Amino acid sequence: MNVERIEWYPRDLPRKERFATYRHASGVAQVVFVRLDVDGTEGWGATSPSDVTKESKDTVIQALEKMAAELRGFAFERGRDVADKMDAILPGNPAAKAAIDLAVFDVLGRSRGLPLYRMLGEAREAILTDRTVGLMDAPAAADRAKAFVREGFRAIKLKLGGRVDEDLERVTKLRTALGNHILVRVDANQAYRYRAALRFARQAYPQVLEFFEQPLPADDLEGMRSLTETSPIPVMADESVVSPQDAAKVGWSKCARLVNLKLMKTGGISRTLEANAICESAGMPTMVGCNAESSLSIAAALHVALAQRNVRFADLDSHFNLAEDPASGLQFEDGYLKPSGKSGLGMDVRL
Ligand SMILES: [Mg+2]
Repeated sequence: MNVERIEWYPRDLPRKERFATYRHASGVAQVVFVRLDVDGTEGWGATSPSDVTKESKDTVIQALEKMAAELRGFAFERGRDVADKMDAILPGNPAAKAAIDLAVFDVLGRSRGLPLYRMLGEAREAILTDRTVGLMDAPAAADRAKAFVREGFRAIKLKLGGRVDEDLERVTKLRTALGNHILVRVDANQAYRYRAALRFARQAYPQVLEFFEQPLPADDLEGMRSLTETSPIPVMADESVVSPQDAAKVGWSKCARLVNLKLMKTGGISRTLEANAICESAGMPTMVGCNAESSLSIAAALHVALAQRNVRFADLDSHFNLAEDPASGLQFEDGYLKPSGKSGLGMDVRL
């Protein structure tokens, strides 16, 4: 197969409402769409860079220019050939690489006439996704969560701010508002230090939380290791794992019980499959999560989640908060996310 053409289209997609975490807040999702032509078959990818990998729209475009210059005319057999070639062209830049990698897998699925998850392993047909409640005060968070449940969501991820008493109030009000039949998980985005994180985990334990995501700074692996041992709520690593190598380090050192994998962190589908295999071998189930993404790259993450048995959780919800999305095709039913059934990523793109 030969790469004939690579083009990219940056778009700032307005959100329905501003979304805030401990680290930042924004009313738009910055997305770069990529179109790839391989032997007459068109494929689409997209990326949403974040500061977790020190990338921005500008760095993505620079990296795409550099990679495209060397990829035009490149012959490949498997998706991984392109991932390896991109790593040889330039280091880092996983979100930029993800855009091309997704388009490559879209082409592979389309040319074989298979939805991508069937090509990658087919562990299930649909997966429950949560909807994330951003960082806001406790009564507002409880109201927002109730509204999401009315829309059909059966799992809520709540963003925390790193102050124990305020976070406990958030969690308690939310659990009281939702009742016990809704799954609740929390994400601190590195806001805590060890002692406060442990105090939060112990006091929040009766509220039945599935996991406590990235409580401590990404590079505080020693703290993450201690908390993984002491916290009654399972600790999940997110920002601590941006590559398959990080997954190995976190797994072997027991710095988390669970890992949040994102296509934009690891550089696309090939590398995420590698990271997931490492997590599985280390006994760490995974979640597939997202940045501020279009449903195009959400679909790619969904295919990975459906293909891999070690993926137990999905946090694939950013597209629900977009006021405009050039991509369409995902199905949402009774809390579960499903692909369209068409080949490749199964998505339509109208830029
Ligand atoms: Mg997270």
